[in-house]
Amino acid sequence: MVGLVVTKPAGTAGAYDIAVVGGGLAALFVADALADHARVVVCTGGKSPKPASSRSLGIVAQGGQDSPARLALALGEAAASAYWRWSGAAVALLLERADALGLAAQRSGSWRVSMGAEEWGEWQSSAELIRRWTEDAGSVLSISGQELVSRDVGQGFEGAVYVPTDGVVDPQALLGSLESGLQGRASVLATRVAVGDALADGTKRLHMETGETLECQLVVVAAGWGSAAVHPWFRDMLYPVRLQGLRTGTLSERRLEAPVLARHRFESWLQEPSGQLGFVGCRWAEQPEMEAGVTDDTVISQEVDARQRGFLAQHLPGVLDCGVVDQWTGIASVSCDGLPLVGPIPGDPRILALCGWGGWGLSLLAQAAMDVTSMALGRDDPETPSFLTPRRML
Ligand SMILES: Cc1cc2nc3c(=O)[nH]c(=O)nc-3n(C[C@H](O)[C@H](O)[C@H](O)COP(=O)(O)OP(=O)(O)OC[C@H]3O[C@@H](n4cnc5c(N)ncnc54)[C@H](O)[C@@H]3O)c2cc1C
Repeated sequence: MVGLVVTKPAGTAGAYDIAVVGGGLAALFVADALADHARVVVCTGGKSPKPASSRSLGIVAQGGQDSPARLALALGEAAASAYWRWSGAAVALLLERADALGLAAQRSGSWRVSMGAEEWGEWQSSAELIRRWTEDAGSVLSISGQELVSRDVGQGFEGAVYVPTDGVVDPQALLGSLESGLQGRASVLATRVAVGDALADGTKRLHMETGETLECQLVVVAAGWGSAAVHPWFRDMLYPVRLQGLRTGTLSERRLEAPVLARHRFESWLQEPSGQLGFVGCRWAEQPEMEAGVTDDTVISQEVDARQRGFLAQHLPGVLDCGVVDQWTGIASVSCDGLPLVGPIPGDPRILALCGWGGWGLSLLAQAAMDVTSMALGRDDPETPSFLTPRRML
């Protein structure tokens, strides 16, 4: 537990209790939760790269990049089930929050499809684990590739597991709503910042692009891939991966009731309420380094485009007949071990990390932001699994 130490009298110009660094959904969620309890300033960064939050497909999916079975092998079943529950709370919280803001979250569930026999074996083991950890075990379905075709989920897959708790939100609407909700409750500055030397009493000093400084007692670093430039500790902990998306024209019929995540979540797609198909993918199995280390979110990679179209032609035949009407890229922040960084960094309890989502931040950040809020306000220890705290990197 960190606990907020308020030493400045209210109203001191340029002095805050908490600085939240970032302008994406992680920063806005935590700022929203803190704003009624402390003097909060949100430093939202520069014009580029754009927040990954504004590029997201909106799929809210329990778990992480590694399947539950793989996580259980790496960390043991107790840790894997703790992560599954924690990420389930994150999904539920985000969907509830979207509802509360009047943004009509969908509770569609999601399909986790497997491309080959090995992945399918791993996912069948995962389904058994999930059933063991879930009250409503019967709602977690495992179905064969053949049945997927008859359900119109796609073809050429080995099989799929249906996770009923997942859903879809509109990330742009969420960003807009949270941003306007902060008006009058927190100061919002459109500037990049970096943490400088602290004052003798431990007060943190942030340097803005303009050369001015801000003082605060606690810093929440929620700057996505940009976190590496906010504080030196993040430099070796995060790396960028560029994700690329495309949107087709309106399909002639409703083909997909729920989003689909494939190849350990490297690809995902959904049919949007408009009837269009949205598809996002990143590193491809045969070339895993592809798009890793790339930080330019203004360029469409023709190589990735060719792979995405090939994938769609093979697994969702016909969808490209409606044409591709939109393409975009965005930068995901991935931690060294693929798990999020949530909590104080080693050696400095006044710097709280809230980043490193491995391309699935929308799904995880709501609970992580609540945990960081509890840490900042010195409330009872949140139930953040210990292997998500930055000190695991020591
Ligand atoms: C194409 C694409 C599709 C995606 N689809 C999904 C999905 O369907 N489901 C899902 O769960 N996740 C998805 N994601 C991932 C998800 O969007 C991100 O993980 C999540 O939005 C990250 O939120 P964030 O607030 O941590 O970071 P970001 O949204 O990236 O925000 C980072 C912010 O920090 C600011 N910043 C950077 N440096 C500084 C600095 N020095 N000072 C101040 N501010 C700074 C930036 O300006 C930005 O505002 C997708 C990502 C992409 C790119």
